Amino acid sequence: MNQLLIPATAVGDEGLLIDLAVTIAEVQPQDTPGVPLETVHVQGLVLAVDNDYLFQGRLKGVYERPCDRCLDAARVPWNLEVGWLFEEGPGGLFSVKALDDEKDETEGTFTERRPLHGGTIDLGPCVWEEVVLNVPLKFVCKPDCRGLCPRCGANLNEMPCACGSGETLNEAPASALADLARLFPDLAPKKSEE
Ligand SMILES: [Zn+2]
Ligand SMILES: [Zn+2]
Repeated sequence: MNQLLIPATAVGDEGLLIDLAVTIAEVQPQDTPGVPLETVHVQGLVLAVDNDYLFQGRLKGVYERPCDRCLDAARVPWNLEVGWLFEEGPGGLFSVKALDDEKDETEGTFTERRPLHGGTIDLGPCVWEEVVLNVPLKFVCKPDCRGLCPRCGANLNEMPCACGSGETLNEAPASALADLARLFPDLAPKKSEE
């Protein structure tokens, strides 16, 4: 059951308070890649404004994925204020507008029209869209994570590695760097840019 399908009749004069912990599978459309987040908390108020409906509230969750450097769990808390206006259009279709993004028409505005399923406001697609848009680009377990020894693979956060090289990622063996440079010539430092 999709908890984010809100019956319009449930929205009274005072509005309808929403406070839900939603499993991401409930809002994920079929055949879309997953996101590194299990549960999203949806809190806010749905208000009836003339024939339209306004949701104002907050999305919260924790993105979790292996650390980019050491592969331990890295958690990135997320907390976003949202405002969506569900406007009724022809044929009972509702267009959804993200209120925060009104200044920038090219980004973040929900231009698709979504049907009001038998008098039901569907917050799910809006929640899913925000969850996808806000996936962090980087996951690190802590800002100063030392990563793995490039030679023996030991986690350098836990102890100096057993291979005794004392090397960190910044001091990888010259031969390994040379191998990498051959594989990715575009990434080699360009002295002329200095
Ligand atoms: Zn780490
Ligand atoms: Zn090592």
